[in-house]
Amino acid sequence: MYNCLYRFTNRLESERCLKHKTWHNYCNDISKGGQMMSTRLSGTPWWDDLLDHPDIFTPEDLTEDEIMIAKTTEKFVEQQILPNVESLEQHDYQMERETFAAAGELGLLAIEIPEAYGGLELGKHVAGLVAENIGNGGGSFSVAYNIHAGVGTSPYINYGNEEQKQKYLSQLGSGAWVGAYALTEPSAGSDALKGKAKAIWNEEKNAWILKGEKQWITNANLAQVYVVFANTEAGITAFIVEREMDGLSVGPEEKKMGIKGTSTATLILDELAVPQENVLGEIGKGHKIAMNTLNLARLKLSFANLGTAKRALELTVKYGKERKQFQQHLVDFPMIKEKIANMNIAIFGVESLVYQTAARIDDALEKNSEQHSSKVVGQFIAECATGKIQGSEVLAAVADEAVQIHGGYGFMQEYEVERIYRDARISRLFEGTNEINRLAVAKALFSQFRDQPSEKQNGNNRNAMFILEAERHFAEILKALAAMPREDVLEAQEFSRLVANIYKEISIMRAVYLRAEKAGSGASLKQLMTDVICEEGYDNVERDLIRLWSAVDDGAEGNEMIERIRARAHVPAVENLLKKKRDISEYVVNAEKYQT
Ligand SMILES: Cc1cc2nc3c(=O)[nH]c(=O)nc-3n(C[C@H](O)[C@H](O)[C@H](O)COP(=O)(O)OP(=O)(O)OC[C@H]3O[C@@H](n4cnc5c(N)ncnc54)[C@H](O)[C@@H]3O)c2cc1C
Repeated sequence: MYNCLYRFTNRLESERCLKHKTWHNYCNDISKGGQMMSTRLSGTPWWDDLLDHPDIFTPEDLTEDEIMIAKTTEKFVEQQILPNVESLEQHDYQMERETFAAAGELGLLAIEIPEAYGGLELGKHVAGLVAENIGNGGGSFSVAYNIHAGVGTSPYINYGNEEQKQKYLSQLGSGAWVGAYALTEPSAGSDALKGKAKAIWNEEKNAWILKGEKQWITNANLAQVYVVFANTEAGITAFIVEREMDGLSVGPEEKKMGIKGTSTATLILDELAVPQENVLGEIGKGHKIAMNTLNLARLKLSFANLGTAKRALELTVKYGKERKQFQQHLVDFPMIKEKIANMNIAIFGVESLVYQTAARIDDALEKNSEQHSSKVVGQFIAECATGKIQGSEVLAAVADEAVQIHGGYGFMQEYEVERIYRDARISRLFEGTNEINRLAVAKALFSQFRDQPSEKQNGNNRNAMFILEAERHFAEILKALAAMPREDVLEAQEFSRLVANIYKEISIMRAVYLRAEKAGSGASLKQLMTDVICEEGYDNVERDLIRLWSAVDDGAEGNEMIERIRARAHVPAVENLLKKKRDISEYVVNAEKYQT
């Protein structure tokens, strides 16, 4: 089925098609090659104690085969998407379907589909790698791809019965069919489980009759199959709805700010008859499918955002090396160098975070294969949401600076950064807005971390000291919050926002620290970027902690905590980060792209 390709790569080892590279022999290959997949951290929180995880997964651990998959994806974008961007932006559905078919032929739509259904059954970090590379230049197609290969496919993998898997996964994996996921309604956005669409069993027609409207459904006009959520008497239920079923119609394309090349439209369910065999999972348990599916979708989106941010940086550095003002190239101005360094550093943080998260999920899934995958992935709600928040916010910041460094040209449509800037905006809105994701992080933390000890070892180097000190203070505030009535804490949403932000900062500090440590002393750029992230990250944590303490306890204890935080007793003296950023920018400007 997958004529994969390596038709696109230089390595024409035809017998080594992706299709034959199963997860199991893949793992064997890895262990033979010395990189032990099984040594990654499982679903334990990063809190576990020390900064001593030499086997943490980093992008440097990607195997040769995985790098080849990345290259295949890169070529796919170069050859199938970039030359056709204009047509894809104008809703050329035929071309978009052909693009899906080409991706299907390469195996790119079947990365996570089990082998038994014609898929490649590779891990989340490989799925992330592909999403990242499609995000790097794929524009609107990247969103269409993520919906198809993510929420449009995973419900069948995780909740489908044998017949449903046989029928739908082969179609979706090959790209013969495009998939979509329909949860949102006009009156149910963030409050997604409060939709009004109804499904009533009709004995005479021997079918469920669906009535209602699903709004802003990505791939609506392209898809042949949709996962649609509607209320039955027993509760929300997921239905598999095929395009040709009587009673389904698709509304006109929405006119959007960005991702103009994706199809976004309303599904109208008008006495839509769905047979019993098209109920997905259990009747009345659709809310679990809806929410669990979103976890990994958030992680996938963060990978796509990572890829787009890398592209924006590359375009910007290249432009900045060409454009001269005051007889100097833009990249030679210190203020521009600082911006370029900041972009590269922020991308490094996201990259380190999301690959570690994906690999930890892979490891947890492998170790707990007897459990339903949603239960295992459910342990990573905070991590997936944090990746989504950070990926989308870093992309927003990077896209903004990309336009800024392009000056007025960045405002002109002939420059790609103009589209990247508009396209980036959606990522903070869908897959749960970033506000909803912050609430999800905080809620998960209040359950998981409330009894964490605040005693921590001291760090044995500067960056470790920042991290452990931040964690010590974080544990103290979590303890104070745990002593308050749970409803009061959750009601004060600002607390959740600050807690989620602190967690995000520490997670990134940890991720880059472990990556730099693993890379060793020769990795001077990684070390420089880690220095910046740990010091600036600590500053952010300190600011948010002070805000929190001032709201949580305005008595003597709160004041004492604030004094202790301000005293910075265990925190190293500040360093010249401006100089470090100049050095970092040199690497990026010389390479004309993202560097680690
Ligand atoms: C281009 C596009 C594609 C989409 N694709 C799909 C798709 O394929 N399938 C699908 O099912 N849906 C899809 N959606 C819907 C998307 O998931 C929702 O737009 C999103 O969940 C937010 O809902 P809303 O737009 O109704 O905003 P609202 O829920 O009305 O939120 C508005 C604002 O209020 C904030 N807010 C809401 N509730 C709270 C709260 N409790 N606390 C604090 N702040 C809050 C939000 O964060 C936001 O800032 C898509 C949307 C767009 C724009």
